[in-house]
Amino acid sequence: MGSPLSNRRRLLQNNGPMPRDFLLGVKPQYDVVVIGSGLAGMTAANVLGRAGYSVLLLEQHYKLGGMATWFKRPGGHIFDVSLHGFPYGMIKSCRRYWTSEIADSIVQLRNIRFDNPMFSLTTTYNRDDFTRLLVEKFQISPGAVGAFFETARGMNFYDDQRLTTGELFERFFPGREDVVRLLMEPIVYANGSTLEDPAITYGIVFSNFMSKGVFTFSGGTDRLVELMRKALIANGVDIRIKADVTAIEVGREGVRGVVVNGRLIGARAVVSNANLRSTVLRLVGEQHFDRDFVEQTRAVRLNNSSTQVYIGLKDNDFVEESTGDLLFSSTADHFRTDLLLSRSVTSRTYSFYYPRTRPQGRPRCLIVSSTNAQFSDWMNLSEQDYQASKQDLIETTLDHLDRYVPDIRQRLDHVEASTPRTFQHYTCHVEGASFGTKFEGLAVSRSLPEQIRGLYHAGSVGIIMSGWLGAINYGVIVANDVDGLLSRAAIATTGAASGEHA
Ligand SMILES: Cc1cc2nc3c(=O)[nH]c(=O)nc-3n(C[C@H](O)[C@H](O)[C@H](O)COP(=O)(O)OP(=O)(O)OC[C@H]3O[C@@H](n4cnc5c(N)ncnc54)[C@H](O)[C@@H]3O)c2cc1C
Repeated sequence: MGSPLSNRRRLLQNNGPMPRDFLLGVKPQYDVVVIGSGLAGMTAANVLGRAGYSVLLLEQHYKLGGMATWFKRPGGHIFDVSLHGFPYGMIKSCRRYWTSEIADSIVQLRNIRFDNPMFSLTTTYNRDDFTRLLVEKFQISPGAVGAFFETARGMNFYDDQRLTTGELFERFFPGREDVVRLLMEPIVYANGSTLEDPAITYGIVFSNFMSKGVFTFSGGTDRLVELMRKALIANGVDIRIKADVTAIEVGREGVRGVVVNGRLIGARAVVSNANLRSTVLRLVGEQHFDRDFVEQTRAVRLNNSSTQVYIGLKDNDFVEESTGDLLFSSTADHFRTDLLLSRSVTSRTYSFYYPRTRPQGRPRCLIVSSTNAQFSDWMNLSEQDYQASKQDLIETTLDHLDRYVPDIRQRLDHVEASTPRTFQHYTCHVEGASFGTKFEGLAVSRSLPEQIRGLYHAGSVGIIMSGWLGAINYGVIVANDVDGLLSRAAIATTGAASGEHA
């Protein structure tokens, strides 16, 4: 006979500790189940919870936020993964659909820098400053600049989608590769679009930024997501992490619920914030859709992924703020979108995080270098080659960064890299796509409820509905669709009930 403690230890060794039930106390049925806590999923859940529906939000990771995420490292470093910049429209969307505290924490980034073999400049990245630069520095006539801005601003979803971004530029700035670089480089970074994509995907996103410039969230992604979590709870949303949805159940009348951690939970509507292709092909299963729809889904192209290098400086080492907030840097002589995706990196976007990024935290300077990347370049490497490639990415980035932050190797306290494999691992996004799908994804996403009653998708699609603002706005649009369905059903029930009594 051993002591009670050693008996207990033996018991744990034999059976292991009881696994924690992350669904403890969950109800058997909700009005709405939201799969995934990316910005679109959380926003849809918040709007529906606030409208009085019972909402269950299920997230497979141990953290909320999806791509809107952060991680901590020893020494007080907190790295933001996708907080680099978003348009002014975030303030309005956050005030309406989240809280004033969130909206009031959105601040402008004033120093946007470009440095490449064609030009070097600093701008506030809005229409006035771009007009000045295009006229004075690039010698474009004010008439052409004005006409370009008006055309971009007037673009909408119903426009002719055959015009490509490349053709749009050629129409206004024929033969001007330098101008195209200035206009296009940040948007390629912001949503992975290319010169071959429909011009509206460029025009809408570019005009959003040009209205007032580039904005960020004061306090960092961790503060934002915590404020969102509190708002969700205040609105009665039941939030569960480590809740992996493996199937969406469909019956003759439409969606019935989801299978999560092996348990069936009923729902009148399901909003999937998971990747569009995996929602249709894996979670629901193609047998439940029309054949044409399945083909259309298969044909949806994914957007590219990213690599990042995260660098934390030593305590009390601060970068001069004139270095910029965002720096679009390239060593390539020419601007070509395929070069921006190539493994031999020539373009990097640096985000500089000064102590003001997290006024509540330890004063720290951090730098994140981001480059668009292809999953295929990283997927089949052996573990050894993968680690070597990551190290190479770190070394070449530090070599390059040294021109902007001298002696960076001596000044850094922490450095590490992420790849398309990292993004796939944490968010389950097919091929680690940073911005969901290409443009054709939008039509598939929007027509899901026509295929299966009560089934919706809200998440980065079609370039327009991606990024922080696009994802939040798409969450609102889909929440309104769900509200329409559920309130129509409620009216029908009330009508039928009052008919019975009459
Ligand atoms: C490196 C990088 C930099 C970026 N920079 C910017 C930027 O500067 N500005 C900007 O506006 N945007 C940026 N973005 C893009 C932006 O972060 C995304 O477009 C946006 O956050 C995506 O939100 P979403 O709602 O589509 O969902 P996602 O963030 O993709 O979240 C989906 C969620 O669903 C969960 N999930 C998936 N499957 C399941 C399942 N079966 N069960 C339960 N949960 C599931 C995932 O775990 C995840 O939490 C960047 C992205 C990356 C990767």
